[in-house]
Amino acid sequence: MIKKYMTFQKNSGISPYIWTILCILPFYFIFQTSSLIKIIVGIILTILFFIFYRIAFASKGWPVYLWTFILIGISITSTSLYSYVYFAFFLSYFIGNIKERVTFLTLYFIHLISTSASINFSIVQQDELFLKQLPFVIIIWISVILLPFNIHNKKEMGQLEEKLEDANKRISELVKLEERQRIARDLHDTLGQKLSLIGLKSDLARRLITKDPDQARNELKDVQQTARTALSEVRKMVSSMRGIRLKDEIVRVKQILKAAEINFEGNQDIAIKNVPLLTENILSMCLKEAVNNVVKHSGATSCSISIVQSWKEMVMTIHDNGVFKSEEDNETRGSGLLGMKERLEFINGSLELLTEEGTTLVIRVPNDVKPSEKEEA
Ligand code: ATP
Ligand code: MG
Repeated sequence: MIKKYMTFQKNSGISPYIWTILCILPFYFIFQTSSLIKIIVGIILTILFFIFYRIAFASKGWPVYLWTFILIGISITSTSLYSYVYFAFFLSYFIGNIKERVTFLTLYFIHLISTSASINFSIVQQDELFLKQLPFVIIIWISVILLPFNIHNKKEMGQLEEKLEDANKRISELVKLEERQRIARDLHDTLGQKLSLIGLKSDLARRLITKDPDQARNELKDVQQTARTALSEVRKMVSSMRGIRLKDEIVRVKQILKAAEINFEGNQDIAIKNVPLLTENILSMCLKEAVNNVVKHSGATSCSISIVQSWKEMVMTIHDNGVFKSEEDNETRGSGLLGMKERLEFINGSLELLTEEGTTLVIRVPNDVKPSEKEEA
């Protein structure tokens, strides 16, 4: 209970104190009057105001209008009888919390008009106590104009944010579901079929073992072969699920360059830290495609790869000393560069192609893109 109270205090700042002062304040104004009946009426009105105020918060539909009208009535009465205008502040807060737009607007304008009228009436009446607190009255009047809209908009924003969060959660659940279905499909199509084939063949071999040992041996050979294929398919599936790490891709491209007799230049160990798996996979794909292009098109004798990580972004540069062939020189229109660009756009990255003194590809990925943090976990 104490903990709950403390949290309330922490979250609400000084507003509980302001509300407490506003709750005590009416009594100060009531006791300014000399007549006993007026004092009793004032106390009853104040108590009724707080009771109805509580009920109004819990009500829905047309009773909201009823309670608000009663509260406005009490507010106007206390303004004109006791020069106490601050109930209007409570009402502004309540009206701001009304979700339904039409109800909110209707009650907002009724409250604004009635409060303005009662304030004007008291000024015209030259009420001394009222005129003494004129600066505060002006503050209340401004808050009657602004506070409801402020609260209402804040609430709407909060609701929109909640909806957005829900939608994001749903999308990530759907993505997971889709991935699960894909894995199930793959398992069924590869492992499922192979295992049933193994079952059938081994059954056949068992039956043939006495009748036709040669045929049985052939069947068992098939079983062995199928088991091997199944194992390699499982391995492929697992490695495709894991994604390609940049470190492994660098090792692979070095081998490709070596086979093509192109000299590799660059750091032997390129260490990258805190990079989301998705970013790493996309960068690996880009690196692979860029090096494939160097081997296929450039005619270069050397190729350099560098990866620089800063607090803002990660820059991967692939440079070769060959000659860039424009697309017109090729009969077929490739999709490698386009694919790279599309993949990079997905993680807010960019691709720059420089064709002076060989070909240079500059790939940039901002550091704040972490869509796959959860995936990694
Ligand atoms: P795909 O990648 O779809 O197999 P592709 O390699 O021809 O086909 P892109 O990777 O999009 O297609 O490359 C487009 C074109 O740009 C290439 O056809 C080639 O003419 C040129 N090019 C790309 N990279 C280099 C490079 N490193 N050196 C010289 N020319 C290049
Ligand atoms: Mg290509």
